[in-house]
Amino acid sequence: MYCKKCGTLLDEGTRFCTNCGADQNLPPVTSYENAGRPNTNMVLAILTTICCCVPFGVVGIVYASRVDSAWNTGHYEDARRFSRLARNWSVWGIVLTALFYIAYIILIAAGVSWAMWWEDADTFYTCLL
Ligand SMILES: [Zn+2]
Repeated sequence: MYCKKCGTLLDEGTRFCTNCGADQNLPPVTSYENAGRPNTNMVLAILTTICCCVPFGVVGIVYASRVDSAWNTGHYEDARRFSRLARNWSVWGIVLTALFYIAYIILIAAGVSWAMWWEDADTFYTCLL
């Protein structure tokens, strides 16, 4: 059985959850489940797909789409893991995209200063002649 509040795997017949201490003899209350339901991170995954890194965003969407079905079938630990994976893949997609653009800007800056240096050198040689 799983804790009605936090979803921790408990021995059958355990009265109080070993993780959060919730009383397992209370009738299942919908609000308990809703309180513990992990965020699917679907919005974040879609944003990553649209704005940043498509491969990472797609992996995020795949995991995000499995959160609710895992939760609804009582696989609370799986739902939490999918939620975490969806968030991690999305965040890494954003971080890598940001790093890519930073590297891109540095290369442009390097290219511009190189071009300017050549222009200066050209002027210098023209003056010499
Ligand atoms: Zn618990």
